Amino acid sequence: MLNRLPVEINPFRYVEQRRELSGIMPLREMSRLVEMALDSSGDFQVELVFSLSETHLPMVKGSVQGQIQVECQRCLQPMTLTINHPIEVVFTRSETDRRPEEAGYESWVVEDDSLYLRDFVEDELLLAMPLIPRHDSCQPLKPLIEGYEDDAVNNESDPTEEKKNPFAVLKNWKKSE
Ligand SMILES: [Zn+2]
Repeated sequence: MLNRLPVEINPFRYVEQRRELSGIMPLREMSRLVEMALDSSGDFQVELVFSLSETHLPMVKGSVQGQIQVECQRCLQPMTLTINHPIEVVFTRSETDRRPEEAGYESWVVEDDSLYLRDFVEDELLLAMPLIPRHDSCQPLKPLIEGYEDDAVNNESDPTEEKKNPFAVLKNWKKSE
């Protein structure tokens, strides 16, 4: 039942064929994500449906779900992040193509009609990761995180804000690449 995803696909052909992919991506194969993890075991479940957007742009919709163990940046104890990240990405061949953005989608620049699914899924997961992972409630380890203390206290009253801002920053960073 554990379906491996193909390594490399032609996303434009997948869109023409309206293909659907469902499979797993092992955490240990995503090196940038592994660097953030305490434990490299585990798999992410990936669902992808290739089709045209309402404005006829080639795109993929779907989700990536799974869990990753990271270090809480407040108490420095392990914590399990559960990720359930929606995917909505338009494929383009040109970095200067503004159509995906105008339609309100993230874009992925495809070179030589080739898409490495591992890189694609890993980028989506990195977007879904909080910049400063923390338990919902835990006690700071004061001697060790003195520098973070103000930050931790300020954010305590508004947990949604701390999630929103890093996410926006990451998105902008990705677009300006
Ligand atoms: Zn904690």
